[in-house]
Amino acid sequence: MRPLNDPQGRTFPYLRLSLTDLCNFSCNYCLPDGCEEHHHKQSLDLSEIKRLVTAFSAVGVEKIRLTGGEPTLRSDFNDIVSTIKSIPGIQKIAMTTNGYKMDQRVDSWLDAGVDQVNVSIDSLDPRAFEAITGHDRLQEIMAGIEKAFAKGLPSIKVNAVLMKGVNDIQLGVFLDWIKHQPITMRFIELMQTGDNGSFFNQYHVPGQQIRDQLLEQGWVRMTRKKDAGPAYEYCHPDYQGRIGLITPYSRDFCKDCNRLRVSSQGQLQLCLFSESGHDLRRLLQDDSQQDELIQEIRSVLRLKVDGHFLDQGYTGGTQNLAQIGG
Ligand code: SAM
Repeated sequence: MRPLNDPQGRTFPYLRLSLTDLCNFSCNYCLPDGCEEHHHKQSLDLSEIKRLVTAFSAVGVEKIRLTGGEPTLRSDFNDIVSTIKSIPGIQKIAMTTNGYKMDQRVDSWLDAGVDQVNVSIDSLDPRAFEAITGHDRLQEIMAGIEKAFAKGLPSIKVNAVLMKGVNDIQLGVFLDWIKHQPITMRFIELMQTGDNGSFFNQYHVPGQQIRDQLLEQGWVRMTRKKDAGPAYEYCHPDYQGRIGLITPYSRDFCKDCNRLRVSSQGQLQLCLFSESGHDLRRLLQDDSQQDELIQEIRSVLRLKVDGHFLDQGYTGGTQNLAQIGG
């Protein structure tokens, strides 16, 4: 079947699927007051997820990232993974997690079929970690990473949101950590959302600062794979780990966009900063709706525009990234 594309000729091998808008951490740039459970709406169930991924796979999606909120809060998380894994055409399942109970659960995630784990760690200092996330759980997350390696996962990606004066001054500590470990340490530029305007003004720092330090120290930018995410990765002969930089404020960031997003309630979102999503849930109720669902996805894709206007302070309908899945 003809693969999905948009009016700019971009293709979409990669779908980021949010499993829940609930999160149990209260990161100061995302949900500083925690999650308001009463706003929580019913997430897609296992059969809806199966129909959704089957349709996307039919039009060329090969990689699924499970995100949230915190995706592992779903008690059926492992069933979701193994169900998606059995869908023809899906080659890779990645997940993004805050690492909560990872030490106890990572074995079962990998057994269910997860191929790649991204863990969020904004600081390697336990007190700073707690101040950012509201949880004293850094040791538990580190133990989870050890467990994943012991179980045979070849590499792990770690996400840190860059914050001025908090972790942008800690590059050396992160570099020491990945020197002898196959960890890709990804620095994500803090993005402005509807909820975090004043935090953004205080803490945003351009990722180019990190890039300049890396280049000075002999790191080299690598070429990107077709299904790669938004990061540019850098390697260095003296380091087993890599560095990734995600710089959504840079001029050409959207040029190579290869990702689509579906919210936990089945809204197809063409960009992290779209004004709103397009409802697919009504077409996820029965297997007989697959053709109509694929038609709908194709026609929504015609609306995908060149890029976001984040650099002009336009954050669309996104109040925080937990809402849609960062
Ligand atoms: N709960 C999971 C986690 O903590 O990784 C998955 C969801 S979280 C929204 C996904 C990623 O988005 C995390 O790495 C988080 O740090 C990042 N994130 C959240 N808000 C952000 C913002 N305003 N700017 C940049 N990254 C953000």
